[in-house]
Amino acid sequence: MQTVSRLYDQLHPHHYDIHWDLTHTKSDRAVHGTVTISGTQHDEHAIRLHVKELDIAHVRVNDTLVNDFTLDAVNDEILIPHTNNGPVTIAIDFSLKMTDAMHGLYPCYFVHDGVKQELYATQFESHHAREAFPCIDEPEAKATFSVSMTHPEHLTALSNMPVSTQEGRDKATLTTFAITPVMSTYLVAFVVGDLQRATKTTDGGVEVNVYATKVHRPKALQFALDHAARTIDFFDDYFGVPYPLPKSDHVALPDFASGAMENWGLVTYREIALLADPKTISVSGKQYIAEVVSHELSHQWFGNLVTMKWWDNLWLNESFASVMEYLAPAALYPEWNSWFDFTTNEGVIALRRDCIDGVQPVEVAVNHPDEIRSLFDGAIVYAKGGRLLHMMQSWIGEDAFRAGLKAYFTKHQYANTTGDDLWNALSKTSHKDVAGLMHTWITQSGYPVVHASLDSGELVLSQEQFFVGPHQPSEKLWPVPLRTNLHDLPELLDTRELRVPFTRNDTLYINSDNTGHFIVHYDETLRHRIISDLAGGKLTDIQRAQFLHEQLMLARGGYMSSSSLLELLALYSEESNEKVWDIMTLAIAELKKFIERDEPAEKKLRAFVGQLASTEYQRLGLDAEDGESEDDTKLRSTIVGCMVYSEDAAVIAELRRRYEASPLDELDPELRSLMISSLVRNSSDDALIDHLLQAYRTASSSDLKNDITSGLSATKRVEVISRLLPLLKDENTIRRQDVVHWYVALLGNKYGRVVTWQWLRDEWSWIETAYEGDKSYDYFPRYAASLLTTREQLDEYRTFFVPQRANAALTRTIDMGLLDLEGRIDLLERDAPAVIDALHKL
Ligand SMILES: [Zn+2]
Repeated sequence: MQTVSRLYDQLHPHHYDIHWDLTHTKSDRAVHGTVTISGTQHDEHAIRLHVKELDIAHVRVNDTLVNDFTLDAVNDEILIPHTNNGPVTIAIDFSLKMTDAMHGLYPCYFVHDGVKQELYATQFESHHAREAFPCIDEPEAKATFSVSMTHPEHLTALSNMPVSTQEGRDKATLTTFAITPVMSTYLVAFVVGDLQRATKTTDGGVEVNVYATKVHRPKALQFALDHAARTIDFFDDYFGVPYPLPKSDHVALPDFASGAMENWGLVTYREIALLADPKTISVSGKQYIAEVVSHELSHQWFGNLVTMKWWDNLWLNESFASVMEYLAPAALYPEWNSWFDFTTNEGVIALRRDCIDGVQPVEVAVNHPDEIRSLFDGAIVYAKGGRLLHMMQSWIGEDAFRAGLKAYFTKHQYANTTGDDLWNALSKTSHKDVAGLMHTWITQSGYPVVHASLDSGELVLSQEQFFVGPHQPSEKLWPVPLRTNLHDLPELLDTRELRVPFTRNDTLYINSDNTGHFIVHYDETLRHRIISDLAGGKLTDIQRAQFLHEQLMLARGGYMSSSSLLELLALYSEESNEKVWDIMTLAIAELKKFIERDEPAEKKLRAFVGQLASTEYQRLGLDAEDGESEDDTKLRSTIVGCMVYSEDAAVIAELRRRYEASPLDELDPELRSLMISSLVRNSSDDALIDHLLQAYRTASSSDLKNDITSGLSATKRVEVISRLLPLLKDENTIRRQDVVHWYVALLGNKYGRVVTWQWLRDEWSWIETAYEGDKSYDYFPRYAASLLTTREQLDEYRTFFVPQRANAALTRTIDMGLLDLEGRIDLLERDAPAVIDALHKL
């Protein structure tokens, strides 16, 4: 494996003075810059800095011109000969060419009042600061930064700190920002553009600003503003260390590769993750914004104030933020029941990814920076890591957790840490061996299935690694916190097998609050006790969701037949909880896979789903009642979706009537996607497609655009899909950031799968050019693997992607993709006859 040396070893930077000139950007895409780095040299011969695709004009060391510097493009380095140890100042004039790739320093495009405009933004995580200025681009190399910019005079300029001075210069403005505290290069940021602002001050005196282009209504900025201000006050109190900077800016960017980026004091977002226009936003859209803003704000402490030493501890940032993204909303909006969402969102994502052989552990060695991209496997580093931290939080208790965090932030602020520093802080406050519990979970990939069975007056508990798909044998063991409902049972299963006397007839629930990262396989006796409790209405909401999902996973893993899911689902016909319904729809989606090519069975499943949803449909109808819970509002779209799937003619006709009675942006945001998709699916009218595409091109609301994407992608007509696919490369229609969404939606449609799969292979070189530096690059092979369904497609996948394994950013994704795909095809072949048979018996 390729490795790189750490440059921090030979130069400790203390301060950077950076200036970028953005006044010529529009004409020739060139940005000129200067940087002066003061630091301490620890190498006797030379200074090495990170640079990537920068033109270096002049280098001065201690005010002396150095001409014999060399550039090493393979390692992204400039090597400057300089014999000295000790204090040193390096000044470099450089320039760069902006490209549309959404990292380094890049332009965003938007149309306002019919005029095409640009703004300029940065995205430096993980190792893209070197594309914008020479630096030691490693998280440990913390320094202070003085940032300044020359830019067109009418534009707003933002950076990590507040503006300190502004002066006019020949139709341009020179904006200088206050010096930052010590921080890592990947968190440095700026945004320059024609922006509107909404502002307020937190109780703790921090100025909070939300910015967006003027394309949006000012009202769209308000929800995020209020939520951000409340969240900063909440974290000030919860972490016991106040928000470290004087201001907190949140900027919605028209073009953005991921969801959001936690740049210190200047968080950047995709528009859909920040802007909530009351006219077009759904409840779940608003909750998503609250989660993302909470996630990014928690990073202002965890990640920014205290930073991982190196990228192998990236989970320290992301796992933690993935917990905080629920913890803050859980406190601020108790009615949302966010911890339940945590189990049905993060829990489900983690369990589904972590069961494939070859998955990465949460903590993994990073040799080359290019591997960092493949480390952003969100299902593991975010979801599983978050789940593990929450498991530990439940194990040590809330008070010890908070006290430990406060001690951790106080001790390590403005410095770097590893996971052990966090475990030590939490062990001290909890008096429990936190490292002992967490070390195995964090460094070992996968998770166990705990088998629970009764045997001659004893309860037998045993564990083995749980897999879906082909896999190597595994001897792994985990310390499993059992958290049973019966108090005389052991707390931990850390051996292969454990036997305890057990003669009672009580129902046994293991992992009874679903905070543990494992699943349970009960023997028939124990399973029947749970099922009879389920039928008798004795399970909690969380247990109902958890039990169904565990059964689903066990079916995938071959521990039971998928056909039994039908029988089990029938027991949920009186279910009224929105989050349990989320899992029910997952189970329904699972069943759909088995009957894709069997129309009579599909008809049976449609009828079954309609029946399952009928009680709730009668309760909820199509219109929100005054004062109903937001859970019910969200549930309505799930239930109506089931009615549409069941081909209920009255529901479909009414959705059509409503669609035709209002302009698109005035449709009920909760049902809008269903209205569009059910219309598209049942129509052969090309004018409808034209109309929706035109609306897509001009809509300012990302929520509306997403619904049009889902709606158009639901077509049954291959000719429509063939018309949509070329648009994925047409940036006047589909922004580069949204291509993956379209691709997944089209590939998920059984009528579009073959042509979309072909499109991917035909357009691969375009994808490589457009996405290679992005986190979303590996989504293309990854989603293909999770959505293709036939052996022929598996062969095609192998033929196409195996030769790409040499690319470090794709190796793991491709290897797992093959296993994922093979596992699914085996499952479909194994269980389809039984599922179809069970459907016919209904
Ligand atoms: Zn994050």
